[in-house]
Parts: sequence; C-alpha cells; structure tokens
Amino acid sequence: MHVAVLGAGVVGITTAHFLAEAGHEVTIIDQAPGVARECSAANGAQLSYSYTEVMASPSFLLRLPGLTAGTDAAIHVRPPLTADLIRWGLGFLGQCTRSSAAANTRANLEMAVRSAQLLRDLRDELRADFHYRQAGKLILLSSDRELDDARRASAVKAELGVRANVVSIEEAIDIEPAIAAMAGPYAGAVYSPGDDVGDSSEFAELLAERLEQQRGARFLFETSITGLIREGDTILGVRTAGGDVEADAVVVCLGAWSPALLGKVDVRIRVAPVRGYSLTLPPGRTMPSASVTDYGRRFVVTRLGEKVRIAGYADFVGFSTRKDGRRIQHLLETARAAAPQVADFGCPDNHAWGGYRPMTPDGRPIVGGTRLDGLFVNTGHGTLGWTLALASAERLADAIAPYAYSYRNDLTATPVTTTEASSSVST
Ligand SMILES: Cc1cc2nc3c(=O)[nH]c(=O)nc-3n(C[C@H](O)[C@H](O)[C@H](O)COP(=O)(O)OP(=O)(O)OC[C@H]3O[C@@H](n4cnc5c(N)ncnc54)[C@H](O)[C@@H]3O)c2cc1C
Repeated sequence: MHVAVLGAGVVGITTAHFLAEAGHEVTIIDQAPGVARECSAANGAQLSYSYTEVMASPSFLLRLPGLTAGTDAAIHVRPPLTADLIRWGLGFLGQCTRSSAAANTRANLEMAVRSAQLLRDLRDELRADFHYRQAGKLILLSSDRELDDARRASAVKAELGVRANVVSIEEAIDIEPAIAAMAGPYAGAVYSPGDDVGDSSEFAELLAERLEQQRGARFLFETSITGLIREGDTILGVRTAGGDVEADAVVVCLGAWSPALLGKVDVRIRVAPVRGYSLTLPPGRTMPSASVTDYGRRFVVTRLGEKVRIAGYADFVGFSTRKDGRRIQHLLETARAAAPQVADFGCPDNHAWGGYRPMTPDGRPIVGGTRLDGLFVNTGHGTLGWTLALASAERLADAIAPYAYSYRNDLTATPVTTTEASSSVST
C-alpha cells in the first residue's frame, strides 16, 4: 500500500519508519526544505520517560489568577479568541480535575515506557550519534505542595515500574553537584534515573536518511500541502502546491497545523499551538550532567555534547511570533539568574529558537483512524513529542494494519479503526 505521511517532524519521520518496516511504500511531504524544521528542531531534548505529567491539572488552576492578570512569567495567555479556541479552552479546563490529570499522565507514561524500549532497539540499528545520553533527570521544586503532588505521582509511577523518587535538595546536589550553584530556594526535587536526553532533530535526520537509503522512501520537501483528495467518504491522496499526490492512505502528522488541513474535510481535532522557546549556548563553569528542570520558573537545562540547551515557557498566543524577541530575552535572563554557571549566557551566538507545541486539552496525542476511509492522524503530542514519538508511531502503524489488509484483499467492508489515546477528536 502507498502511504503519504504529511509532515517531516519527529512524529512524521517515526511514523514513516514504522510504516516502511510494515512493508508499505512511503512518501513523506513537508513544506520545509528538510527534516524537523519546526517544533522538532530545537526543543528541550529530554526523553522524559518518567515525567509525563500533563498541563491540565488542579495545580494549573492555581495559576489561573496570575494567568488572567498577565503576571505569570512562564505562561502567557493571549490567544485570538476563535470558536475553536474557546472549545479547546473549555475542554482543557474540564481536564483539570485530579482524576483526569492522573489518568492522562498514566496513559502518557505507558506510552513513554514503550518509547524507551523502542529507542533502545533502534539505537543499536542506527549506530550513529544524536547526542543521546542516559543522563537522568532532576526536577527542582519550590514548595511543600509541589513535593506532596510529586510523592503522590511517584507512587503511581512505581506501580508501572518507573522510578521517580522525591529527594531532599542536599541529595539532589549529591546526584548533580551543578545544582549547588543554582539560586533556588528549592524545597526538594524529583530524581528519575531512567530519563534520557538526545537531539530530536538529529535523530529524525538519521532516521530519514535510513528510510531513504534502505527502505526507498520518497521525500517531497518544499512542497506545501493545500488539501486532501476526497471522493465520498474516501481519501484518495493529497493536494500540494506542486501537484496532486495519489495515495492509498494518508497520515496527518502536521503538528500544530494538523487541525487546519483536517478541517477541510470536516474532521475536527482539538489541537492548539502553544509557543515555547530555546537557546543553545556554550557551557559555563559548571555544566550539569543530568538534565535539570526548574519547575517553578518553567525552564529546563540539558547538556547536548559540548552545548547547553535551555528551553521553556508555554504561551497561548495563537500562531504569533510577535513577542518572540522579548520572550527569549526573558527566558535567558530568568535562566541566568537561577542558574548563572550552567552556560555562557553572554555568548552572542545563542541559537534562539521558538516552536509551536501541538497541544490537546488532555495532553495526550491523537493516534488512529478517522471516519473517512484512508485518513489517519498522529498528532497532538504537546510537551512530549520527542518522548512519545516512537510508541505513538508504532500505535499508528498498528491502527493502519486492518485497513491495509482489507485494501490489499479488496474487501468492501473495511474494518473500522477508531481514533484513540485522546479525548480531543470528534471525527
Ligand atoms: C520549547 C519546547 C521544548 C520542548 N521540549 C521537549 C522535550 O524536552 N521533550 C519532548 O518530548 N518534547 C518536547 N517538546 C515538544 C516536542 O518538540 C513536540 O511535541 C514535537 O516536536 C512535535 O512534533 P511533530 O512532528 O508533531 O510537529 P513538528 O515538528 O512541528 O512537525 C510538523 C511538520 O509539518 C509541516 N507542515 C505544517 N503545515 C504544512 C503544510 N501545509 N504543508 C507541508 N508541511 C507542513 C511543518 O513544516 C513541520 O515540519 C518541546 C517543545 C517546545 C516548543
């Protein structure tokens, strides 16, 4: 079966990988000149296998007064108010209960554990460097309430065999001495020895190279997708600025841009763009070995080879880059004040970057089929796209398998594949 994968971010490339492994002919289409040029380009680089907490939670509600007053430094909320966004916001608020947050975090955790296994296998095959390291992760917390939440979460994680232990700040410094030079004050930390780091963009490039050279995948770059070819309830291919591409099945992996394309064929998914930023700097005097998150100030510090990536913030501002300069400068100054020795903050070449997280209200990706034959989605990975990409792609390939079977055998009754993993779809 010929499958068109729309989007060459880390989700599109991993999806193409599993489809090619299943024996499908794959064409990957993206408007960018290469692989991973949008949200997968310069993210926090964390393979956050144990920290899969979703944003919609009771603790987010506590931030609401600061968000509405515009005084929350790490999260700005000034979206263009469209009907879609209001629906998204109401859906998000509905997920902010303790039970929903726990269920969503657990669903992501299960997917993350599977991703870790899949990356282990794939790394052996790729035999190439994408700055992967078993670094461990420390999340620095500033209040007793955050510590209590962390203790509850770590008990749930332990049930799934995932280690995320609450430690004192002294223990955290023993694990990662670079924390001693951080400003704090911190009440304690969560230590996850099983969390890794790696560069998602380099990984996606390596996998794309393998797809092209060993699996004969076709890449159409600098090709803007303008619509889908539809006949009745069946999708027959993709319309692009460079002409039509026929396909037996289409998988939409367009990240934050997925809802716009799907809306053209009346498939509605709830995915909003949430802007975040990063800087990639030369190391400072005490570059941490573990990845370190300052939870209250909402930034992460990750060592990637001889560089330090500082990433953070979550801005609900629609598709706007207007405030990027100011936000990146704020991130730099916040990180410099909190962790002055981890990076050379004065370096003029700081590789400032911004990306749109494709965020669902429940923080879980949308993976599977739609009500249209031949149309599938794998998107909405929010804050965890790099972490979840492999398991999510494997799940998508499993979801497409019955369709491929009926297609190959020319069966009229196509088994129905349902979109799963998220409550954010109404197909
Ligand atoms: C600051 C920040 C830090 C983050 N840190 C982490 C982290 O540490 N760990 C983690 O797991 N996740 C992290 N994330 C989240 C992660 O980066 C995303 O979830 C992930 O990159 C999404 O991948 P994607 O392939 O779905 O989307 P994208 O990478 O955005 O890919 C979508 C692709 O679609 C293409 N496209 C869009 N519209 C069209 C069109 N009309 N025609 C053709 N092509 C089109 C784009 O060019 C793009 O290549 C972070 C995100 C941010 C912003």
